[in-house]
Amino acid sequence: MQVIVLGPPGVGKGTQSELIAKKLGLIHLSTGEILRKAVANATELGLKAKAVIESGALVSDEIMIGIIKDAISHESMKNGFILDGFPRTVQQAEALDKLLDEMNLKQVKIVYLSVPKDELIRRLIERGRKDDNIETVKHRLEVYKTQTAPVREHYNKVACIYEVNGLGEIDEINDLIVSKLTA
Ligand code: AMP
Repeated sequence: MQVIVLGPPGVGKGTQSELIAKKLGLIHLSTGEILRKAVANATELGLKAKAVIESGALVSDEIMIGIIKDAISHESMKNGFILDGFPRTVQQAEALDKLLDEMNLKQVKIVYLSVPKDELIRRLIERGRKDDNIETVKHRLEVYKTQTAPVREHYNKVACIYEVNGLGEIDEINDLIVSKLTA
């Protein structure tokens, strides 16, 4: 199974994706994690992406599509994967559609998580990641609205999206997602 988890920053994509991956035996691919590791290891990618991530803006589509292309064509991905944090623009979504099509993967499932905006801000500030100060949080939510929200419209046209309320107990939300994915 291939799963794409959509939703604004702070909604719980990372937490839920990790749990879904464990339960369904999928590989969890978080583009945010890949980038943070690259920054920590000061790789060429990390050096390029650092300032962008810290400002709350998006890393270029070209770089991100390259990362995903490399990652999902890996042998270990054959048994299924879950994408967390990608795609974040319509251009990324279109590139992903093409990649999945080329790999003959046609059973992609999409989960959209949502919580009210004030809860998002509370969670983002609380988790205290380096790129989570009040200024970058506001910027990330703005970037989400203008660049990432249209991705949902894109998938509304081409695929079925499971809408899940991200407010509540982590395990209960997860059970709900897993039951929808395995129904
Ligand atoms: P995340 O952990 O998903 O919140 O990602 C942290 C940061 O990494 C984001 O604020 C972006 O700067 C960058 N990033 C992660 N995924 C993407 C993506 N698909 N496209 C562009 N930038 C991304």
